[in-house]
Formats: sequence, C-alpha cells, structure tokens
Amino acid sequence: MTVILPGATIGLLGGGQLGRMTGYAARSLGYDVHVLDPDPACPARAIASRTITAPFTDAAAAAELARGTSVVTLEIEQIGADALAAVSAIVPLRPSAAAVVIVQDRLRQRQWLDANGFPLGAWCAVSSPAEAQAAVEAMGKTVLKKPVGGYDGRGQARVSRAEDAAAAWESLGSGPVLAEQFLDLALELSVLVARREDGAMATYAPAINHHAAGVLDWSVWPGDLHPKDSREAKRVAEGIATRLGIVGLLAVEMFRVRDGRLLVNELAPRPHNSYHHSERGASTSQFEQFVRAVCGLPLGSVDVLKPAAISNLLGDLWDRGTPDFESALTIPDVRLHLYGKTSARPGRKMGHLSAVGDTVEEALEKVLTARSRLVST
Ligand code: ADP
Ligand code: MG
Repeated sequence: MTVILPGATIGLLGGGQLGRMTGYAARSLGYDVHVLDPDPACPARAIASRTITAPFTDAAAAAELARGTSVVTLEIEQIGADALAAVSAIVPLRPSAAAVVIVQDRLRQRQWLDANGFPLGAWCAVSSPAEAQAAVEAMGKTVLKKPVGGYDGRGQARVSRAEDAAAAWESLGSGPVLAEQFLDLALELSVLVARREDGAMATYAPAINHHAAGVLDWSVWPGDLHPKDSREAKRVAEGIATRLGIVGLLAVEMFRVRDGRLLVNELAPRPHNSYHHSERGASTSQFEQFVRAVCGLPLGSVDVLKPAAISNLLGDLWDRGTPDFESALTIPDVRLHLYGKTSARPGRKMGHLSAVGDTVEEALEKVLTARSRLVST
C-alpha cells in the first residue's frame, strides 16, 4: 500500500463545499491541496494553494492536476472517464476509476447493486413512453430518475398514474432513466464507511436523515435505530465498499420501509452531507477520516463523543437579504458553517448549522431553532 505522508500534496477533483471541508482537514494534517473545478470561484478555492479551472471532462487539465500532486481524490462523482484515466496514469486515484464509473451512473449503479445481491426496492430501466407506462402499471407510484447529473432531488419525476408516465419520462429528456417503485418510508438513514487500500475499514454508526422536497433538511447522529437494523445497515454498507474496492469514503443512503425492509437507495464515493455532524459528535470527522483513508494513514476512531445534529441552509434563506446570523448564534453551542458561495439561489446548499446535545433530539432542537431565527422578523 502506498502511504502518502503529511507534507505531500493532495489533488481534489471538485471544489465544492465537500472539497473545501476536506481541504481544511487535509491542511490540519499538514498536507497541501490542489483543486480542479469548472468554477474559478469554487468554495474550495479558499483552502487550495492551486486551483485549476476546467470542466470535469478535461483530461489534459486532470493530468495537470495529477502531475503536481502525490494522490488524487474526488468530492463529486461526475468526472469524465478520460479524466479519471488520465489521473490514474500519473498518480494513485483513490477511489479508483472503476469504482467511480459504476457509481456515477444511477442505472449502472443499480444494475451493479442488483447483480451483487444487495437489497433494493423494485426498479427497472425505462427508455420509451411505452416502457414508462408499463413501469407505472407494474409498480404503482413510481419515481423516474435521470441516470446522470441529478442531485438534491433534481432530475427526478414522481408519477402516480400510468397515463402520466410518458409525459414524465419526456420531461426528463426522453433518454434512458431509472424507474423505482415509490416506497412508503418509515425513515431514511445513511452509513459512512472509510476504507483503506489494504482493506482496513472503519464504519460510522448510521445517521438518520430528513429530506424536504428531495433535499436533505436535517440529519442526526447516531440514529436511534433498532440494534438489528443498525448492524444490518453497517453490514450492507461494508459489503458494498469491499465489493467496489473503495479507497476513501463510501456513503450508503438507505431506506427503512414501513413493511420492515432495509433497502439501499444510492451510493456516494466521497464525504456526504449526512455526516457533517461528525465534525461535532465523532472522535474523527468524516473529512479527516477521508484524508486518512486516501493517504493510507491509520483510520481514526468512529466513536460517538456526543449526539449531534445538522440542519442545512439553502439559498431560499437569502430571499429577503442576508440571514440573521447573529440571532442564530445566540444559542450557545450552535456553530455556523458557510461554504463561501457568492450567489444564493433557491435550493442551493449555502451552509449548515451544527450542534451537540445530551440526546440527538436536544441537538436537533438547537439547530432547528437556530435556523428559524435566521429569518425571523
Ligand atoms: P439525490 O441524488 O437527489 O439525493 P435520491 O435518489 O437520494 O437522489 O432521492 C432524493 C430523495 O427522494 C430521497 O432521499 C428520498 O427522500 C426520496 N426518494 C428517492 N427515491 C425514492 C423512492 N424510490 N421511494 C420513496 N422516496 C424516494
Ligand atoms: Mg440521495
């Protein structure tokens, strides 16, 4: 296993908030950070000693990033296959191109999960109006998802009636889509696995996540799950990370359906919004753990220090001007995290609030109260 020691430079494909927070952790550990992102004003610019501005399909730019670094990782999975290959030819790419290519396309990811026996709700591939209609007839209420480029609930359409299926499919661009049965969820959870090249793993207790309009609204950790569900969720997540050969982090979003099933929703081979509370509640934050795993350092403890919670701050909070940060911060122990984004668009993740408490309920209460104060009149 190649170990990349502090003092070296880590290359990051993607300079969003996940890259920025990874960069803070990398710098604390004594690494330098170079970033490639299409946006010259990307959030991670603040922590990078070099920012290459190029699209994620630019193999020459990716090679340029790799040449200046000892290892390259990513904070977004939508990186062109040529760019991934160009990096791999020069330095270790962690996680590997093979793993990223499977995860980055929802249809390919589903097929892979199914073929490897991981638990999924009913699904099928749809590439015509007739197939869209047949999917809704067979599965009942259905959600259609574009295979590439969707996030935060974008690129999806929910359909209840078979006669609306063709129009929904066309609204997503009339290409191949993933059709999933719309499940009756008891709760949403996620599990984060850190894995090194030699197979060593550290798996965080599951987080419980609440979404609003398809976007993560808040998350608490550790999630109050039945111990059997918790064990099963960790076992499934570790199985996926191992089978994919992940080096770095793998976040596995899961559903607990009302009928009792525990199912995989989707994968992310990188840090994840639903583990931002690890910066407050865990012995090792997800960002430090990510750097450790990618660099081959010993993995840190995933022990719970304190129950913790985060609430997301979307651009809508800026509708009537700058939110009232001072008022939110009068709650002792609430921390404000802003990503340095220059424009606030509705639905855009601008930052989050975090807190700890004696219970997750108490921590959640703090971040939700603080958030409500941001826009109080
Ligand atoms: P994204 O990449 O936008 O996070 P997801 O597939 O995770 O895409 O969907 C976003 C949210 O939409 C989920 O967290 C969940 O709340 C809801 N959702 C997605 N698929 C289903 C489904 N099959 N049944 C019920 N709810 C779903
Ligand atoms: Mg999701």
